[in-house]
Amino acid sequence: MPHPLLSVEDVSKSYDGFKAITNLNFYLYEGELRTVIGPNGAGKSTFFDLITGRAKPDKGKLDFGTDPAASHDLTELNEYEINRLGIGRKFQTPSVYTEHTVWDNLVLSLKGPRGVFASLFHRLTSTDRDRLDDILKTVRLDAKRDWKAGLLAHGEKQWLEIGMLLAQDPKVLLVDEPAAGMSDDETDRTGDLLLSLAGKHSLIVIEHDMAFVKQIAANGVVTVLHQGTVLCEGKFDEVQSDEKVREVYLGRGKHGTR
Ligand code: ADP
Ligand code: MG
Repeated sequence: MPHPLLSVEDVSKSYDGFKAITNLNFYLYEGELRTVIGPNGAGKSTFFDLITGRAKPDKGKLDFGTDPAASHDLTELNEYEINRLGIGRKFQTPSVYTEHTVWDNLVLSLKGPRGVFASLFHRLTSTDRDRLDDILKTVRLDAKRDWKAGLLAHGEKQWLEIGMLLAQDPKVLLVDEPAAGMSDDETDRTGDLLLSLAGKHSLIVIEHDMAFVKQIAANGVVTVLHQGTVLCEGKFDEVQSDEKVREVYLGRGKHGTR
């Protein structure tokens, strides 16, 4: 077994005495697409807050890097430094620049300490241009590159935001409930998109929609969070038939269908 890219060990985080995350252990391997599910309030988004440095753990380890001799202690770094290491996050609601074109949104997301003005008027290198062209195709927005982002459909905005994340060329993509509010067709395409990114990138995808989870977890591992800790981990079928999981999550029938 190779060394994990991300190691989370015995991590806890409380808010005013409420334990949002409790003794969490989690390992992500390079190139993996991991799906994280769990009922509302299970601590899924808090887990992302801890990885990205938005929140700091009360205890435990968060290490990043496949070389144990040169791994980064994420608890010592701020949000900006963690992002620069190659950990990118997509929040649930799209936050694109609605008045700018699809293309300019990608340009604005390129790595580098540039302001909006400098980014848009700075000449792109041909390497950057080619990369952004590839990203546009990957997120299927090449035909809409000159559209104002505000005019895109909800699903397209989500894809643009995934494209903006890709423009930063992250090692790890953290994606929080990408299928929320999408049509079945958009959901299906989003699944294909995320699957196409695995291997080249490592991904953790938080999701509720079980049809979608089944699609993206076809070859991967599903982690079930409950009350801030791992309840169960395994292949989709194993997790789905696990009694504990059925009790706390699937058995409620709330998220079982779409
Ligand atoms: P999930 O994403 O699984 O629905 P969250 O991680 O958002 O769950 O929340 C887990 C629990 O932690 C919730 O009870 C929530 O109210 C609490 N929590 C999360 N972030 C904060 C915060 N910044 N301040 C106070 N409580 C928080
Ligand atoms: Mg959440």
